[in-house]
Amino acid sequence: MTPLGERLAREIAATGPIPVARYMADCLAQYYGSRDPLGRGGDFVTAPEVSQVFGELIGLWCADLWLRAGSPAKLRLVELGPGRGTLMADLWRAVARVPGFHAATSVHFVETSPTLRRAQAAQVPQAVWHDRIDDIPDDAPLLLVANEFFDALPIRQFVRTEAGWRERMVAFGDGRFFAAAGPVPVDALMPPSLIAAPPGTVVELAPAAGAVAAEIGARLAAQGGAALIVDYGYAGPATGDTLQAVRAHGFADPFADPGEADLTAHVDFTALRVAARPATAFGPVTQAALLAMLGIEARTAALAARATPDQAALLRAGTARLVGGDAMGSLFKALALTGGDWPQPAGFA
Ligand code: SAH
Repeated sequence: MTPLGERLAREIAATGPIPVARYMADCLAQYYGSRDPLGRGGDFVTAPEVSQVFGELIGLWCADLWLRAGSPAKLRLVELGPGRGTLMADLWRAVARVPGFHAATSVHFVETSPTLRRAQAAQVPQAVWHDRIDDIPDDAPLLLVANEFFDALPIRQFVRTEAGWRERMVAFGDGRFFAAAGPVPVDALMPPSLIAAPPGTVVELAPAAGAVAAEIGARLAAQGGAALIVDYGYAGPATGDTLQAVRAHGFADPFADPGEADLTAHVDFTALRVAARPATAFGPVTQAALLAMLGIEARTAALAARATPDQAALLRAGTARLVGGDAMGSLFKALALTGGDWPQPAGFA
């Protein structure tokens, strides 16, 4: 049993099962606070770690918007959950030749993990770090990027039992954690269409994700700018249990070894759109569609033409993984938000 597991087991024995959201929040804090989870030796690989082309194209997406917004003299470029800083390093390099962009822009990272902050500083030394999105300065337009950030925020789950709807809790017994329905009826919280859903139906709510989206929407409306949110998920409403654990590049039991696996939930993009009002929303579109419209094939071909045969093969394989329907291309979606009088972003026709 992990130290976190022992603490949670004691707490559950003393005061009863805890909400899935509490369990997820504690596990994620322990998990991200204690390691670099990315890459081959870690637990999972993200798009910027697959190919430099991902961050480069997002850089051009940013520069194009900034130019069409009239090249404001001051810009706050924000990334939520920057991982190893790879996306921002690729983005920053790609926009170096856009006149005035570097000079106008300061980079802000919202990151809680000290380990990952160190990795980010090695790649993007000029960044300024913040614990929360609320701490970003409010004096200039924002361009905000978040890749695989929202899936790492805790969700609440509700389950339909024979006796009606209950919050889904985490219980402990016989040396292991497991999901169990809580004691309090919550039918009054459920939409009418789901009241009579079959027993076993699960519904998820992401209040933490909603709060971040609301802050982004309010900032964009007040400061101007745009956001690009990329993650795996769906356009809700939907039912189903999407809580999953990933460890050493495979799926694991979310209730085994608390704090030792990456716990995620699929992102409800409709909920993010709604939470981000008054910002204007575009999408979600699939990652494949977005990257195609941003010119991933031409960019890959141009890089491959200048590369060694081995490097060219890696570049093509990376692009295939980013856009492939059976890889990341269709499960991953992109949502764009704009505020102020910023124009429609590229890639969201
Ligand atoms: N965007 C990166 C990393 C994705 S992993 C990439 O695509 O490679 C999730 C990232 O979000 C990590 O950097 C993690 O430390 C950070 N993170 C998770 N929960 C967070 C929170 N509540 N506040 C700030 N950062 C968080």
